[in-house]
Amino acid sequence: MQRYDLIIVGGGLVGAGLAAALRRSDLQIALIDARLPSNDDPRLFALNAGSCQFLENLDLWPKLKAYAAPIHQVHVSNHGHFGSVRLNREDVGLPALGYVIPAKHIEAALNDELQILSNCTLYRPAKLQTLEQQDGKVLLSVISDGVEKNLQAPIVIGADGTESTVRAQLKIHADIFDYGQSALVTRTMLKRSHRHIAYERFNAEGAIAMLPLSDNECATIWSADTSTISALMALSETAFLDKLQKEFGYRLGNLKAVSKRHVFPLRMIRAEKMVEQGVLLLGNSAHTLHPIAAQGFNLALYEVAILAEGIMQKIARNEIFTPVDLQGIQDQIQKHQSASIGVSHRLSRLFSIDSALAGAAVQLGMIGLDIAKPVKKRFIDGMTGRAGRVPRLLLAQE
Ligand SMILES: Cc1cc2nc3c(=O)[nH]c(=O)nc-3n(C[C@H](O)[C@H](O)[C@H](O)COP(=O)(O)OP(=O)(O)OC[C@H]3O[C@@H](n4cnc5c(N)ncnc54)[C@H](O)[C@@H]3O)c2cc1C
Repeated sequence: MQRYDLIIVGGGLVGAGLAAALRRSDLQIALIDARLPSNDDPRLFALNAGSCQFLENLDLWPKLKAYAAPIHQVHVSNHGHFGSVRLNREDVGLPALGYVIPAKHIEAALNDELQILSNCTLYRPAKLQTLEQQDGKVLLSVISDGVEKNLQAPIVIGADGTESTVRAQLKIHADIFDYGQSALVTRTMLKRSHRHIAYERFNAEGAIAMLPLSDNECATIWSADTSTISALMALSETAFLDKLQKEFGYRLGNLKAVSKRHVFPLRMIRAEKMVEQGVLLLGNSAHTLHPIAAQGFNLALYEVAILAEGIMQKIARNEIFTPVDLQGIQDQIQKHQSASIGVSHRLSRLFSIDSALAGAAVQLGMIGLDIAKPVKKRFIDGMTGRAGRVPRLLLAQE
């Protein structure tokens, strides 16, 4: 039986991010992941200023900044309706509202970091089979190279994604909402500069986001009913480009070309609780969100920052972080989490209920947003990761 202070199940972006955030904790950590690192994640993430600051505080930003395109303005509009909302970096007094970064580079930077963490033992590929809670300990059995290994720790973090084994083993119920939608992700080459404007254009079924990348390229995330996305996937590259141009319009000029298209089915999954004795669920295992509001990873990093800060504060006071402390972490996360999940779900639902109504609602909402400063401020706080209590790991360090 191998004993650790903390075991993280799942070494995706969230699990790896937590291990990296605890690099100076002196805790003996085990990180278990069913797969080896890959370099093929096609997703392109919009990260808010807080998330980027988190990566900077972990000293990962120097590896990422060459791939990170700043967002100077967000422009939201609705196909077939008059009006748009613009949010500018000047509104928040920051050099950028956020950055767009290909997920594969974040994964690579985190994996490099995992290799040099002296307090973290990696089990990968190793799959969690069973999890049992017993007398204040959590016992895990994992299979690695066909061999069963037994590990234990007082605290276990379930960062093992949407189909979480940790969640299933604890029999934590999850609400699942199938949107009947998918997201098509590709990169679009432009004939002119995007001027660092991130566009989100809503339509009857969902939205097209065109987010700035480096080198006159945009990250295209098109969410719509699954049948529509399947039809878009079946088009030739030229026919798809024409369709994208027609649906998105000419705000970015004439589009030049697109790269390979990828599809992601969209569901919302929310665990009914995050904490069960010594176990905490984080990231996609706790909540998998519709990407329409680009909240999933940003929210997860907020949670990671709150948890890491809670653990480090206990260590600084020479106290032990215990399973009881996990409940306090959940309480601190709750408000921000509900806000992020609410925004993602409401935006995604609005367009599937009644497009005419939704159009009017959004138009009003947009106009309201533009004239009502407090509403706009709340929106910006959410975008920049400043809503709720802000953990130090999301702030610039003195
Ligand atoms: C199209 C799309 C676009 C998105 N865009 C954005 C965006 O712009 N901004 C944003 O903030 N978020 C975005 N997101 C959300 C983001 O992708 C997720 O929030 C994030 O990937 C969650 O990471 P995770 O580590 O929790 O889960 P995962 O990445 O799923 O990682 C889970 C890990 O657990 C491992 N695992 C699973 N089961 C086991 C087991 N039994 N034993 C051991 N290991 C196991 C897996 O191998 C995997 O490595 C987007 C999502 C999609 C689909």
